[in-house]
Amino acid sequence: MKNRKKPERTCIVCRNKFDKRDLTRIVKNKDGEIFLDPTGKVNGRGAYICSNPECINKFLKKNFLERTFKQKIEPDSVNTVREELKKIANSEGKMN
Ligand SMILES: [Zn+2]
Repeated sequence: MKNRKKPERTCIVCRNKFDKRDLTRIVKNKDGEIFLDPTGKVNGRGAYICSNPECINKFLKKNFLERTFKQKIEPDSVNTVREELKKIANSEGKMN
């Protein structure tokens, strides 16, 4: 039997491990721009968040973005990420 490990990543809020595909990747590129990376393929420093609404709320409320990427982040970027995460949360809610 092959011991193939699934790619797992840690949610930066709850610190639980999830299948990579169940997480949303947020990436900082070399220009310091923060954005959602649904493909998981953008070059840059990535952070993962699970689809739990509590994690998404905490992530946005406590400004995990700035802490995670250790830099000031424009409110516009935070709003963009917030809106994108909401869309993802909503679409997953409808499918269930
Ligand atoms: Zn989480």
